[in-house]
Amino acid sequence: MTKARCATTVYGSGNFGGWPCIKPVKVERNGMMYCTIHDPEYVKAKNDKRQLKWEKEFADNQAECLRHRGAANESARRLALFPEMLEALKTLLDKYDRNLGQHWENARALVAKAEKSNA
Ligand SMILES: [Zn+2]
Repeated sequence: MTKARCATTVYGSGNFGGWPCIKPVKVERNGMMYCTIHDPEYVKAKNDKRQLKWEKEFADNQAECLRHRGAANESARRLALFPEMLEALKTLLDKYDRNLGQHWENARALVAKAEKSNA
């Protein structure tokens, strides 16, 4: 076994069997010599880093998805309460059917606006 060459076979387009790496050897791992970029520990570290990046991106996407779903659920919950709240407000305004000032006017205007867009 020659120790002068990187133990990695390089594959590329147009070459069927691949060819031995010709880069200068830098490290020995388990009796095999490797160049810097084919050093199994370097390759593993690179793959691990890429894997971690993917996992982080996946987790971020999932968190984003859950946030959107949470926001959609909250919107749906509030929307479901709307008719009931509108009725409660109308009941209250009718019960005290006299002008109680600007807040009362505002509430009346809001009810009218809500019922107009409901139609
Ligand atoms: Zn190599």
